[in-house]
Amino acid sequence: MKLPKFDYVEPTTALEAVTLLSQSRGLAKVIAGGQSLIPTMALRLAQPALLIDLRHLESLRGIAVDEAGLRLGAMTRWREIQDSAEVLDTHPLLVEAVRHIAHYQIRNRGTVGGSLAHADPAAELPCIAVTCGASIRVLGILGEREILADEFFLGPLATALGDDEIILEVRFPRWPSSRQWGFQEFSRRQGDFALAGVAIFYDTDNSGRLENAHVGVFGVGQCATRLSGVESALNGRTNTISVAAEVARLAAAEVTPSDDLHASARYRRALVAVLLERAMALARGERA
Ligand SMILES: Cc1cc2nc3c(=O)[nH]c(=O)nc-3n(C[C@H](O)[C@H](O)[C@H](O)COP(=O)(O)OP(=O)(O)OC[C@H]3O[C@@H](n4cnc5c(N)ncnc54)[C@H](O)[C@@H]3O)c2cc1C
Repeated sequence: MKLPKFDYVEPTTALEAVTLLSQSRGLAKVIAGGQSLIPTMALRLAQPALLIDLRHLESLRGIAVDEAGLRLGAMTRWREIQDSAEVLDTHPLLVEAVRHIAHYQIRNRGTVGGSLAHADPAAELPCIAVTCGASIRVLGILGEREILADEFFLGPLATALGDDEIILEVRFPRWPSSRQWGFQEFSRRQGDFALAGVAIFYDTDNSGRLENAHVGVFGVGQCATRLSGVESALNGRTNTISVAAEVARLAAAEVTPSDDLHASARYRRALVAVLLERAMALARGERA
């Protein structure tokens, strides 16, 4: 399908990009990898009069690891994360989630900032950002601010980003090397958006009891979210098969999916339970 007509600019600084956005009074959109925006335009679900291409903004590129954690520039592409030995070493849950995103060709183009801004409820990165307590640094015409991932996603395709703001980077807290984790999702075909997905990580005390349990889900609500009831039920316990079965039932009760074209709410609840049990088995070290 042909795209609607639009003007096109390639700013060379982030400030120039937000100035153009602000001057457009809501008629412009920034474009990163184009993997979500272009199909949306082809379907006439978005008809921006101006596309502001972020491809030349070097300040939005790059992966950096330091004492505070991991920083991913908004223009970092999925493939760069997947290929990074440093990210695999310091944030393995993130790399595992990225491996499940779409197809190779799309991972070559799609970006971190595009996924966060697009805020698809079934996307992997928003879930990992919320589960890990990441924060998102944004720039607008009035300056920079940092938004917790938990407060960034407001609903399907809706975020706390202002009309004149762009995402600069996402920051993940440091990840202890002893941390245990698991990630599971289910989609009809490889590369499709997930019908449901689960991410879990926790630390353990000297006797192997769980502390700091974080459990996130995606594809089963308005946006990615943590399951605080499941997390409370896990802390102080041991990750055994029976505990996993018990919290899986809790998870199915705590999520709030709806029926849609792809699956019923009942099916998604059942999926969450199965996926959480599997993710907890992976976290115990039962890797195939
Ligand atoms: C067939 C197919 C399957 C897919 N499967 C998955 C999947 O399984 N999981 C998944 O997570 N994604 C999936 N995607 C989406 C893919 O990961 C996209 O690349 C990603 O969601 C958007 O990134 P992008 O760089 O392409 O953004 P674009 O398409 O360029 O932009 C998307 C939106 O974000 C805005 N935006 C982009 N960058 C910024 C920024 N820095 N600041 C502010 N706003 C910005 C744009 O204005 C636009 O509104 C799939 C896409 C396709 C076509």
